[in-house]
Amino acid sequence: MDSSTFNQQFFDFLQSCPTPFHVTDFIASGLQEAGFIALHEGEDWHMEKGSGYFCCRDNGTIIAFKANPQSGPDAPWRMCGAHTDSPALQIKPNAIRSSNSLEQLCVEVYGGPLLNTWFDRDLGIAGRVTVATESGSLLIRTIDFNRPMAILPSLAIHLDRGANKEHSIEKQKQLYPLLCHATDTTVSFEDLILEQLHHQYPDSSAAELLGFDLFCYDCQAPSFIGRNNDFIAASRLDNLLSSYVGYRALLEDGLRDNCLLLCSNHEEIGSSSVAGAQGNFLQSVLCRLLPDDSLRAQSMHKSLFISMDNSHAVHPNFAEKHDPQHLPLLNHGPVVKYNSNQRYASTSRSAALFKILCNEKKIPYQAFVMNNDMACGSTIGPIAATTLGVQTVDIGAPSLAMHSIRETTGSRDPYMLYQSIAHYFTRSVLPRITD
Ligand SMILES: [Zn+2]
Repeated sequence: MDSSTFNQQFFDFLQSCPTPFHVTDFIASGLQEAGFIALHEGEDWHMEKGSGYFCCRDNGTIIAFKANPQSGPDAPWRMCGAHTDSPALQIKPNAIRSSNSLEQLCVEVYGGPLLNTWFDRDLGIAGRVTVATESGSLLIRTIDFNRPMAILPSLAIHLDRGANKEHSIEKQKQLYPLLCHATDTTVSFEDLILEQLHHQYPDSSAAELLGFDLFCYDCQAPSFIGRNNDFIAASRLDNLLSSYVGYRALLEDGLRDNCLLLCSNHEEIGSSSVAGAQGNFLQSVLCRLLPDDSLRAQSMHKSLFISMDNSHAVHPNFAEKHDPQHLPLLNHGPVVKYNSNQRYASTSRSAALFKILCNEKKIPYQAFVMNNDMACGSTIGPIAATTLGVQTVDIGAPSLAMHSIRETTGSRDPYMLYQSIAHYFTRSVLPRITD
């Protein structure tokens, strides 16, 4: 597969995945098609050598792996992780307010979006719904209206002369996207959701909506930008870029035993949840795969976790925001992220393992360190390192406008990251470090 085929399929993934629930569904069904077998946490697991498996938690997190149950404590695990969620506007339980003959959506801010980019965009609605069926059981489904359903109009410059100088956003006052004109026949939000559910699942016997986790998302399709298609602009590049890379690498011919991918929900809000990386999902899966504490500890000691999340490329109009000796560039390959306070888990030791993979495939790599005067973000990397005691390296594709509704990366960056992870999953052995 070449870079342009990869990007085209990546664009399809981005458009199919407006929410973490869609990401999990997409990866699960793609893996199933490729012969991976679904496992459920509420059941016993029986695994065979050479087969791939996956398990989902809370509809928004997925762990997929190929395990060899016969491999002992000497077998290292090649793990990598990304997150399925992106900053967004989440619809509140009482979803509608009426004002000036208009129906408006009531939303909360999920994570840390660049809010001014959410104005004047075509917003779709998608997510997870929980309904009671006619027989009284509960049904959980993902829905996507798959068309512009709402818009958050800016205030005209004539009514806000200072807008280009001092525009700040009052979240409680200003974040009410327009949904429709209010008329006597306007259907309730609940009816709107049930209608969409029946449209997408004609056979479901959904009778009553009991709850939803619905988000607004940008409907604009991903694009190549620039004279030579140098850049990619799209929503949710953070962190669907890495989720897609991990998923595609798992489908690689020659996938070795004991490779594992974690795509985790709720990273943007701190990872503390039933499905988040601070929860026990990954540990619980590894305990099932390696039930003996001592053997598991020995195996983890020899393993590696590659935490993938986008990195800040240097913005040419704001180069002073970066450390002048660490200026990652678009289209110059994966970035290894370092932080002496371990907000990123990379160390010279774990980074060396990733550099070997890149060198062998002639993939360039770069280094990022936050400007000393600014607070450093974090990833699921330090969580994996802490909870599993596994060597972990934080890497990611360089990108601009992180947390904007439309982010930018280099058009060669997703493929380079994919090549490095595909090599990680197929290399005959993981490079050994002798202490
Ligand atoms: Zn991220």
